[in-house]
Amino acid sequence: MESSSPATVSKLPSPTPRGATSGARPVKLKFTGSDRFIHELRKRVDAYFEKTGRPRRDCPQMYFKTATILAWFVAAYVLLMFVATSWWLVLPLAIVLGLSMAAIGFNIQHDGAHRAYSDRQWINKMMALTLDLMGGSSYLWDWKHNTIHHTYPNVDGYDDDINIGFLGRLSPQQRHFWFHRLQGIYLWVLYGFLAIKWHLVDDFYNIATGRIGGHKIRRPRGKDLVVFVAGKAVFFSLAFLIPMLLHPWWAVLSVYALAAFVSGIVLSVVFQLAHCVPQAQFPVPAPTTGGWARMQTEWAVHQVQTTVDFARRNPVLRWFLGGLNFQVEHHLFSRICHIHYPALSKVVEETCREFGVKYSEHRTFFGAIASHFQWLVRMGRPVPAGV
Ligand SMILES: [Zn+2]
Repeated sequence: MESSSPATVSKLPSPTPRGATSGARPVKLKFTGSDRFIHELRKRVDAYFEKTGRPRRDCPQMYFKTATILAWFVAAYVLLMFVATSWWLVLPLAIVLGLSMAAIGFNIQHDGAHRAYSDRQWINKMMALTLDLMGGSSYLWDWKHNTIHHTYPNVDGYDDDINIGFLGRLSPQQRHFWFHRLQGIYLWVLYGFLAIKWHLVDDFYNIATGRIGGHKIRRPRGKDLVVFVAGKAVFFSLAFLIPMLLHPWWAVLSVYALAAFVSGIVLSVVFQLAHCVPQAQFPVPAPTTGGWARMQTEWAVHQVQTTVDFARRNPVLRWFLGGLNFQVEHHLFSRICHIHYPALSKVVEETCREFGVKYSEHRTFFGAIASHFQWLVRMGRPVPAGV
């Protein structure tokens, strides 16, 4: 079995829904319906790998890509530390550094964290740890992204990725504030602060409260705690302490702010384009008498209905985004290396057509950007949202 599966639900304590369901008691969420669609998909994907003989993980291209991206990151860092002295060199290098950080996240860390990089778990772990090097916690990512987001995409109160608090309204079930009318403009800027908030606030807050959004999480203990603390120490040393030995503090903070802003905006926008667009659905679970809530579809159909691909034929984005413009395939087969997604997308699209499941994509990156803007404007209007 090569997909994310509803089995991951068992890792979660019952979440406390927010948004429209705010105040409700914690309820478990289950997907219903037959598993015919995912069984057929798995059969066809298995057939693809048998026919081509390609490995699902440990792909030589990935090792080469990893070396290239890490070299890009190290080169930008070293040039900023030891070579660039004038602002007209420092500024573009800080942007290049920010882009390399995003590339590490999209390609290396994301595959490693999903155990899609290698069949050897220690290699996956090493790749996932690149997040700690860049200021985020791989331990919390496993909860927030792999478990919470991948199990419940676009379900308000469950998927923490569509919860940005009162600052923005991303789903029709969320509360509307008057200033959301302007979110189509100001959220693009706020996206840039995602990485800074993540580095300096979110991880510490989540550990302190033992929660991510409405979900209780286990705080890191033992080895996980050592990695969390060591990761933060390494990041703060690389980002602030060591550079401040050679450069004035204001220059170091400025370079950090610019690089983190660039990586923050790129990471946020790319993730938003897959789920927060009018073509994606935001299904609402139905309560049951058994004290749990049910989704109307099987898990795999839910993944397709709530996710949208973009720019599938753009070779630059295919390389840079680590398969995150193929999020339909990623949500269905997150344990397969992203190198395979372009080929798998044909299999998935065809199977969706046969099963009457709507497969959505934006042909271009700018089409997807326009769609996200449209969604923000629509959600910025007072309720009812008329989705
Ligand atoms: Zn993922």
